[in-house]
Amino acid sequence: MTNSIRVRFAPSPTGPLHIGGVRTALYNYLYAKKHRGQLVLRIEDTDQKRSVAGAEKYIQSCLSWLGIEPDESPIHKGAFGPYRQSERRDVYKKHIPELVENGLAYYAFDSPESLERHRKDHEKKGKTFAYNWHNRMKLSNSLALGREKTKEKLNNGQPYVVRFLMWDEKESSIYHCPDSIRGNVAVDCKLLDDKILYKSDGMPTYHFANVIDDHLMKISHVIRGEEWLPSLALHLKLYDAFGWTPPIFAHLPLILKPSGKGKLSKRDGDKLGFPVFPIQWEEEIMGYKEEGYLPEAVLNFLALLGWNDGGENEVFSLEELISLFDLERVHHAGARFDPEKNKWFNQQHIQRLSPSDFSGLCKAVIENHGFTINDEKKLKSIGLMIQPRVVLTTELWRELKHFFVGPKSYDEKALQKVWKEKTPSLLLAVADMLSRGGEMSPEKLKSVLTRVAEEAGMGIGALMGPLRVVLVGALSGPDLFSIINTLGAEEVTERIHSALKR
Ligand code: GLU
Repeated sequence: MTNSIRVRFAPSPTGPLHIGGVRTALYNYLYAKKHRGQLVLRIEDTDQKRSVAGAEKYIQSCLSWLGIEPDESPIHKGAFGPYRQSERRDVYKKHIPELVENGLAYYAFDSPESLERHRKDHEKKGKTFAYNWHNRMKLSNSLALGREKTKEKLNNGQPYVVRFLMWDEKESSIYHCPDSIRGNVAVDCKLLDDKILYKSDGMPTYHFANVIDDHLMKISHVIRGEEWLPSLALHLKLYDAFGWTPPIFAHLPLILKPSGKGKLSKRDGDKLGFPVFPIQWEEEIMGYKEEGYLPEAVLNFLALLGWNDGGENEVFSLEELISLFDLERVHHAGARFDPEKNKWFNQQHIQRLSPSDFSGLCKAVIENHGFTINDEKKLKSIGLMIQPRVVLTTELWRELKHFFVGPKSYDEKALQKVWKEKTPSLLLAVADMLSRGGEMSPEKLKSVLTRVAEEAGMGIGALMGPLRVVLVGALSGPDLFSIINTLGAEEVTERIHSALKR
């Protein structure tokens, strides 16, 4: 059964999908899923000059990495396609005559040069030229020229654009635009120009195609970025012009730079050293995926950039977000992007992984480094040891490698701190003890090693540091007794001997 909630994510394929666009996609997805509606992915590629090869594919790959699967899109066919605007030219063209005949739009023949002249003339007088109620009757368009002359020009094949008659003096210039996040936004149409709907190259502009498609695709809610708020009056007036009921609009707050000053830009990531794209774009730009983030963590922190559920908790799974999400709790004010907080979310989601999901991640990393591990029990116990120590998945190998290779070098500072005269003999005593005994639990190891240290007249503290450096190369790492237990006596003995040979 088709539910009446239908939303859309409508990116223009002009480059990689920025994190702001991903948040728009996510809010649409959450809203659709919560209300058992549909999410449409519509590719807005009417501006062919700005379209970038590979960008559409990239958008689809990002969404699928994140688990945001649209119900309808160029690759998930539905009943309202095509879902690429460049394939819908005829649809837009068909809707032009109706507007012109009703006097709500008009043909304009002004050449770019003549418009430039008008702009310059205005500038000289300290004014700004606008193609609107003030100037339109002085320009070359069907309203000023009349029916006959217009017909003549059209028959002669003179290039034209179609402009929307935004406002004329007969009506009040104040137009009230309802927005479900911001309430009523009053716009003075006197200040707006007659936007081009249809270009001389036979393509619609964004505004026209967007409205036609939202109507024909039966979109119930338009959830999009705040940067489109200034276009809302035009879009609503276009719905009026066709006599169509508009969808409900919700304009999402801006995402701000970490400093809180200004909109987060694609360049900020580069400058400040954090990703702003979901996955790798071209050779050199890495995304959240490559930088070690889990998709569920990215979704979680994006969901909270401009929304919260009103409670204390901040860590949510996608299912939880779907059930909690609500447009009413979307904020008006811009949301500050905090890269450190994003890492925290990732850490939280890594800790939330089940032992088997986490060991699955580890296994892939181990194999990527050319090692194999078939002992599931050992894999799980390594997983349990290192899971609390990982913030980004790119740190996994740093933790895992100790279980596969001995240290290549030893941290000098650590050695200076812990290496004493008696250290070699103490380590040899440990090696000797281990080669005699069988497998020991971490608890048993602790008491046995305490005894070895005591027999040499020292505390276990004198042994722990050197043993750790010998086994993992530094003074950091998971619980030492668990490491020894996992490595096994032979490997530990081997690492002790090779360290003493240096
Ligand atoms: N194509 C527009 C964009 O790239 C979509 C705006 C809208 O959602 O209406 O952001």
